[in-house]
Amino acid sequence: MSLYRTWRPRTFAGLVGQDAVVRTLASAVEGGKLAHAYLFSGPRGSGKTSAAKILARCINCAAGPTAEPDNTCENCTAMLAGTALDVLEIDAASNRGIEDIRALREAVKFAPSTMRMKVYIIDEAHMLTKEGANAFLKTLEEPPPHAVFILATTEPEKLPVTILSRCQRYAFGRIAIPVMIGRMREIAIAERIAIDDGALSAIAYRADGGLRDALTMLEQAASFVTEGETISVETIDLAFGATGREVARALLDHAIERDAAAVLRSIDEAGDAGADMQVLIRSLIGEFRNLLVARVDPGLLSRDLAPEDARRAAERAGALTQAQIVRALHLLTEALAMARSSGHPRLELETAMLRYVLAGEDQTLETLGARVSALEGRAAAPAAKAAPAAKTATAPKAGGPITIQRVRAAWQSIRTKVESERATLRVQLSRAMPEAVEGHALIVRLADAWMVDTLREHAALIESAVADVLGAPLRVTFKADARGKGGAAPAPLAEENPDVLFQYANERIKP
Ligand SMILES: [Zn+2]
Repeated sequence: MSLYRTWRPRTFAGLVGQDAVVRTLASAVEGGKLAHAYLFSGPRGSGKTSAAKILARCINCAAGPTAEPDNTCENCTAMLAGTALDVLEIDAASNRGIEDIRALREAVKFAPSTMRMKVYIIDEAHMLTKEGANAFLKTLEEPPPHAVFILATTEPEKLPVTILSRCQRYAFGRIAIPVMIGRMREIAIAERIAIDDGALSAIAYRADGGLRDALTMLEQAASFVTEGETISVETIDLAFGATGREVARALLDHAIERDAAAVLRSIDEAGDAGADMQVLIRSLIGEFRNLLVARVDPGLLSRDLAPEDARRAAERAGALTQAQIVRALHLLTEALAMARSSGHPRLELETAMLRYVLAGEDQTLETLGARVSALEGRAAAPAAKAAPAAKTATAPKAGGPITIQRVRAAWQSIRTKVESERATLRVQLSRAMPEAVEGHALIVRLADAWMVDTLREHAALIESAVADVLGAPLRVTFKADARGKGGAAPAPLAEENPDVLFQYANERIKP
């Protein structure tokens, strides 16, 4: 039973981050103004299908129509269990969806069997075939008085205007970062998942406005850590890959301080760690964009960023003029475009950052070139001297015991190396967690047994990457995570059988 399903909101009040939509819908239901067709549009995971299910109960609750269905009457119970004959869910993206739409045209003519209205929820409505859409349109043109259609889609512009014009439209927005963090925190506490604030933000940014993705990541992260261990930003980076946010922030700080040597050093370290330079340029554009927003309208930032990050951005924005921020954005977007065409993203990034940092100084190409080589010389020297600890992580051939901390610090590089040889192992590696070093063996834990089998087949490749990166050979042993995986068998059952689903939902919601 996934966290997302377990915690699917059962009332409009529980639907987070969509206050405007919820208010309008609720007042329409309360005012007895029901439409025959609704269109819920918005990004994935923003709550469209959840809202459609709630609306179906609003309409058919024995105590309704009401904006606050009791969720306990016979009708609500059947709808929650997915056994209600008068409420049908159609996935337009599936093959069956096309047949369902055909069947719908006939079935919709008959009155509901036990409930007030027949409610059809059509998911991924933009995936309807031309034939399906035409068939559906016929129904929409003369909807029977006892039928309500709720269409959910991420791409409303793909639907025919003839359908759009017959629907009452509700636009769901991306869920704001702080709202998403708040919701994840509530769920983590209830599920006894130990996670710190940094990790919650890291998940929220990756989820990009979709709560379903956020909860899926939270669940995966929880399966990564051992009993009693707290999920940290490090766990999230290991589990889902680094986003380059940390490097982007360091670069931003160096740029503000006009420290060209530090800029080059950070880019160099990111390169060593296997960072994708285009992603890094994009992250950096995001960071400068935040500074611009902080200068223009600080209030807006609180929607896009965690509170701590919003404060940080406002502080940094104060150190630059608006013109300076705009200039950085120009240089970086240019670098991004150039990186795509030239195929040398790192060079484009270095050039853009140096042009920014060295602004106002003599910028003819020759002097810039001379400066770059001079700075590179300087950057290499202090890096080797001042940070020997950091260097041992990437080039520890000097010796010293291999600890699990060292393996974890180098894990991203090891992954990158293996993936460069065999890209298909990406999924398994993203769910692999270095657990311990015992003698000359590295124990790596995985969430599922099938992943263990796959990685075992490529043990030699992984061991050679480990040896390359760490400078010492280790035998790699893979272990499946036994914890909580007993639920693996009943889970698909629950997906198929609505009764089991409902029973699960009840069990999990009770404290
Ligand atoms: Zn009810």
